[in-house]
Amino acid sequence: MSQHTPSRRRCSFCGAPEHQAGPLRQGTGGATICDACVVRLFAELDRQAFAPGPNPKGNTATLHSGSDDA
Ligand SMILES: [Zn+2]
Repeated sequence: MSQHTPSRRRCSFCGAPEHQAGPLRQGTGGATICDACVVRLFAELDRQAFAPGPNPKGNTATLHSGSDDA
């Protein structure tokens, strides 16, 4: 049986339907993302990477906290 579904996929991030958001990129587990969200996420990552000072959202000093003073 071919259930002709006219692409009712939505962006998993902003929820926009594919016919509005454009072609969605499919990730694993059925997650999808639209171009706008990709751009937005990249911009956010960029901002965090270059943000001055410690990240107020979380602890940054958890990676190398340990015996490092030899
Ligand atoms: Zn989106």
